[in-house]
Amino acid sequence: MTTFPNATILGYPRIGPRRELKRAVESYWAGRSTEAELESAAASLQDATVERLRALGLTESSAIPADFALYDQVLDTTAALGALPARFADLAGPGGEIGLDAYFTLARGDAERAPLEMTKWFDTNYHYLVPEIGPETSFAALADRLAGIVRRHRARGATLRPVLVGPVTYLLLAKAADGAPETFRPIDRLNDVVAAYRGVIAQLADAGADWVQLDEPALTTEHGSAHVDDAVLAYRELADAAGYDAGTRPGLFVTTGYGTAGDPAAPGQALAELAAAGVDAVHADLVRGARPGTEALQALGDTRFVAGIVDGRNVWRNDLAASADLLTSLEADASVATSTSLLHVPHDVAAETNLPSPLPHWLAFADQKVSEVLTLAAGVEQGPNRSAEVAAQIQESEDAKAERAAAEGVRRAEVRQRTAAITTEDATRADAADRAAAQAERLSLPALPTTTIGSFPQTGEVRKARAAHRAGSLTNEEYDEFLRAEIKRVIDLQEEIGLDVLVHGEPERNDMVQYFAENFDGFAATEHGWVQSYGSRCTRPSILWGDVSRPEAFTVPWIEYAQSLTQKPVKGMLTGPVTILAWSFVRNDQPLAETANQVALALRDEVADLEAAGIAAIQVDEPALRELLPLRAADQPAYLDWSVNAFRLATSSVRVDTQIHTHLCYSEFGEVISGIDGLNADVTSIEAARSKMEVAADLQEFGFGRGVGPGVYDIHSPRVPSAGEVEELLRIALASVGERQLWVNPDCGLKTRGYEETVASLKNLVAATASVRSVD
Ligand code: GLN
Ligand code: ZN
Repeated sequence: MTTFPNATILGYPRIGPRRELKRAVESYWAGRSTEAELESAAASLQDATVERLRALGLTESSAIPADFALYDQVLDTTAALGALPARFADLAGPGGEIGLDAYFTLARGDAERAPLEMTKWFDTNYHYLVPEIGPETSFAALADRLAGIVRRHRARGATLRPVLVGPVTYLLLAKAADGAPETFRPIDRLNDVVAAYRGVIAQLADAGADWVQLDEPALTTEHGSAHVDDAVLAYRELADAAGYDAGTRPGLFVTTGYGTAGDPAAPGQALAELAAAGVDAVHADLVRGARPGTEALQALGDTRFVAGIVDGRNVWRNDLAASADLLTSLEADASVATSTSLLHVPHDVAAETNLPSPLPHWLAFADQKVSEVLTLAAGVEQGPNRSAEVAAQIQESEDAKAERAAAEGVRRAEVRQRTAAITTEDATRADAADRAAAQAERLSLPALPTTTIGSFPQTGEVRKARAAHRAGSLTNEEYDEFLRAEIKRVIDLQEEIGLDVLVHGEPERNDMVQYFAENFDGFAATEHGWVQSYGSRCTRPSILWGDVSRPEAFTVPWIEYAQSLTQKPVKGMLTGPVTILAWSFVRNDQPLAETANQVALALRDEVADLEAAGIAAIQVDEPALRELLPLRAADQPAYLDWSVNAFRLATSSVRVDTQIHTHLCYSEFGEVISGIDGLNADVTSIEAARSKMEVAADLQEFGFGRGVGPGVYDIHSPRVPSAGEVEELLRIALASVGERQLWVNPDCGLKTRGYEETVASLKNLVAATASVRSVD
């Protein structure tokens, strides 16, 4: 093997600067292009990526990762291992391989089968496909696709470094296949999976790979950090040259992004153990994780240390002077890299032409981060005698830092004074029982009140009108008129269906966070800043760069109009502070808690204006509360403290008879249930239909006291639940949740659904509620 490159990145955005991959994949799904056309579009994008990275300076052998999943990197590893779940066994190719159509069927399901489950990748907004592993799952070395990519680029003159999810992380991210014995855990299959990895690594070596990257981020989590011993066993096997043809084992590079691998009290120790097991290069995340101890670094011996010092998760320019100091303090020969894959950031700041003027100078997207890595690596090599070029780059980073600290809008006295004056009182409401009584009187709702989560179907018409308005072909007045007509239609429809607490349907919102970012000070929107969320789906997070405030009420006119059309209560509809932070790129020059308080106060102003306009129920959504939960248990209480407090700050100014709702869309809320309770909302809606109302028992066990609406309609598919099914779920819920406590609602908003199924489903929901009410 060659020496490990001095500068590298762990991964690069796969979607393409103009979302080329999204278009190619979706066109294939729609039957508009052939497999060959898809492969050729993917190959062109790979070529462009490799050329771009070389032009940026990643010219060392093995510096460029081959990380080109068409859908998801975990699914790619499933394919490379041939780990087809039994329920998809018929999709196997003649040698057991998972071909392109099988690959997409695992990702998207088919007429008879649900796809693999999708879940969040660590504490990010990227979603991966969960492997299903049982005692019988077969593993084989089937990395032909990845080997083909390596071979093709080799022929074009570039030795890439293929990337796989490492064996321990792969199994820790998997779930036990249906029908596996109660005591079975996927990690029990470690020996078998390692044998297959060995074959995969040999295949990649045969294709010309000099180094193979194995990502082991699970070692940084609370649960995974207890599996360092498993990793040592696995890598000892993989590193054993006896398993390969003489002299063909490539270098093994193990990465540990997203935190500190192993024992956080002994940072670097897990890396030293991996080195002793025979791993040739180990990576530490120096952004989210702790700096490895000097002893641990010394114990690495010949194993190369790779310092993940350029943040793969945010969009801010690196503080090169601070990074250079940190690298010097390591007193070890180190390669320089990103903290994680650059999958989480957009391609290129230079593509943005509409950002407010000094902002671009403070930013670094993927391409800029590549340059930062190269500068820092050059600095390491040069030692104290820096070249003029490196010195100039460091100076520019210093200038940007100073400019940013002093720029108008970054620190605004009036915002600072307000957050400094926050008291506990501001986050405290009256007793829950008094609130319940006052709200019952004001709202006079029936038992088991019915409601929805906020959005109604975003039809082609709504999207077309929004696009026309953006393009200027629809005037403000025309667009307003259109939205009012849409709101009226949605209100009338809810009246007709017979729902009790209505919503306006959110037709004016492109996205539940972007809409708030556009109406608050302190945020900027990008034009091309797309990042992959899952498969071909991308989001375009706003950039929260300055102090946040709300210049004027913006949701109030729509809600007020909706309320004017009906006698029934219409809910005000806001996105909560934590979710706004989670789905934006947030400033890194102050603690998140401080920024959360600013956002909370901006929302508090909107809450006050909604209340003053006579709105009796206000919902503040926090679907991302769990997403930001720190990976380590020791860090979780502090997080829940500030995040819950921000929600309370946003919502606690209201009168005793104003009803605060919140919404969270996941059902595994075990770790955050105390936080959810702490939000102190009067009514909490939560996802439950998909997990057959298991949450009801959890709520009872916890002793959840206030109103709660476990979802009875799974909005993730077009399927219409029958009234009988909904009734059954309600009865399960009633066995655990008090009758005066229970609300009836879908799992989440309806914006991705069509009208036909929505109306039918909501009618069944209302009918089921009526029959439960009449009996009880
Ligand atoms: N109010 C939002 C909606 O209904 C909530 C969306 C969400 O929870 N993700 O669309
Ligand atoms: Zn939801």
